[in-house]
This record gives sequence, structure tokens and C-alpha cells, in this order.
Amino acid sequence: MSTSEIRVQDLHKSFGDNEVLKGIDLEIAQGEVVCVIGPSGSGKSTLLRCVNLLEEPTGGRVFVGGTEVTDPDVDIDAVRRRIGMVFQQFNLFPHLSVTGNLTLPQRRVLGRSKDDAARIAAENLARVGLAEKADAYPGSLSGGQQQRVAIARALAMGPDVMLFDEPTSALDPELVGDVLAVMRMLADEGMTMMVVTHEMSFAREVADRVVFMDGGVIVEEGAPAQVIGRPAHERTRHFLSRLL
Ligand code: ADP
Ligand code: MG
Repeated sequence: MSTSEIRVQDLHKSFGDNEVLKGIDLEIAQGEVVCVIGPSGSGKSTLLRCVNLLEEPTGGRVFVGGTEVTDPDVDIDAVRRRIGMVFQQFNLFPHLSVTGNLTLPQRRVLGRSKDDAARIAAENLARVGLAEKADAYPGSLSGGQQQRVAIARALAMGPDVMLFDEPTSALDPELVGDVLAVMRMLADEGMTMMVVTHEMSFAREVADRVVFMDGGVIVEEGAPAQVIGRPAHERTRHFLSRLL
């Protein structure tokens, strides 16, 4: 039995009267890639955001790498350092060069020296195929390149886990493939990943497990060939039929 890197137990989250997560149980093993699919408003982003406490759960427990994130005494900054997050919007600092975007959080959050941060930035830019853009500014890059910079920025922090929230949804279709290729590389390298996505071919080919959410619950989960190929539930079939 491999260790679970992420463990979510009976997670509840309400915004006022609106109960968005209604008891989620989920374990993700080290090196596992889990894709979360489901209709808009089903709670996918909220689930991801509860894992690194960008949202505070109203009930249940979340563990990352054995540390209880929902323990009131937890050092949340220490936990967040182990979790990289990539959003639909790239959230790069527009006034900083690509290298500046990668070095600033390393220096501020990890206290790395200028030289170490620059070296690690260069390594990670090379990993996402953008070594030649080190001195460029975000505004001069395509959306796909900006998202790869955002991934490199997260990787430069040395995370144990990467969370992706619809990382390709804001991209022109021709730019999606390059970003998915970087994510596939990370999966192949053994990164633990939780990916909210509508890219069913990516989920089919890369995910170890697919989780289908609807209405704040996990309706079904399993191997991609099962959940996407032979869904057991009508709600899953309905959702998938609308994607085609
Ligand atoms: P998904 O990512 O699956 O589209 P979300 O997790 O973003 O779903 O949202 C689920 C529900 O939670 C939606 O009804 C949304 O309006 C609500 N919600 C999300 N974030 C907030 C918030 N910060 N304040 C109030 N309601 C929110
Ligand atoms: Mg969302």
C-alpha cells in the first residue's frame, strides 16, 4: 500500500446557505494522477481550493503528505510550500520578466539566494521548453507560454503535489497541446497531481483515476476507461454526452 499524499475525509464546504461540498472522501497516492471532471458549479474548484486552504472547509479533514491541513495549529505556509497550484488565469506578475516571476517567490517564500533562485528558475524554464524566454515579459508571450511559465514557477518551489484548476480552459485551442504535454511530462516523472479539466483525451491517457463530481458529491470514480468509457451513472453519461 503506497502512502497517500492527499487525503480528504468527509469534506464539507458551505458559502452561507449554499452547501457546495456535501461530504467528499478522496485519497490520492504518491505519484498518482487524478483528474476531476464534472459540470460547472459542481464544486471542483472549491474542492481543490480546500486542499491548500485557499478556502476554509466547514467540516471534515484534509491531509497533505501526512500533515493535517485542517488542524487549527498547522503551519499553513509550510504546507502550501509543498503544494503547487496552477489556475485557469495564469496570474503572472506583468511587471516582472519571466525569470523575475520564477525567482521572486523562491526568494520571498523559501529565502533562497539570488544565485540559487536564478539557477533553479533556469532549470524549470528549460523543463517547460521556455529557456529562451527567460528575459521576456509575460505580455509578450502567448497564453500557452504564459501558462507554461506559471507551471515552471510552481515547480521552482519544489512541490510534492501539483493542483491544476482547468489550466487550459482560457487558451486558444491550438495552444492547449503544449500545456498538456508539460503536464504529461510531470505525470511521467511521478508527480502527484490533481487536475480539474474538461480535456477528456488527457484524462483518458494520463489519469490513473477519474473522479466525476456533480452537486457537491463524488458520483463515481475509477479508471479512465471505466468512468469515461463505460460510466455507471446516468449523471456521468449525461455530462459526457454534452462534451461531445
Ligand atoms: P466548479 O469549479 O465545479 O465550477 P465551484 O467550486 O467554483 O464549481 O463552485 C461551486 C459553487 O460554489 C457554485 O455555486 C459557486 O457559485 C459557489 N462558490 C464558489 N466560490 C464561492 C465563493 N467564494 N463565495 C460564494 N459562493 C461560491
Ligand atoms: Mg471551477
